[in-house]
Amino acid sequence: MIDKKLLEMMACPKCKGDIKDKGMFLLCRKCGLAFPVLEDSIPNMIIEEAWPLKKAEKNKFKHHLEL
Ligand SMILES: [Zn+2]
Repeated sequence: MIDKKLLEMMACPKCKGDIKDKGMFLLCRKCGLAFPVLEDSIPNMIIEEAWPLKKAEKNKFKHHLEL
């Protein structure tokens, strides 16, 4: 889980929208990009590695990295 205060300070790197904690993902409320949260609770905010909302929902916000 991501610290709530940290979460409030964070914004989507793509659209600067608010971020919501979905457990294994941080979801942008505005553009719907889902950013994976790594094992040590570090969010990966790289746009290219984020999933679109549909894909994240399909996987029930469980992330397995596709490398
Ligand atoms: Zn966004």
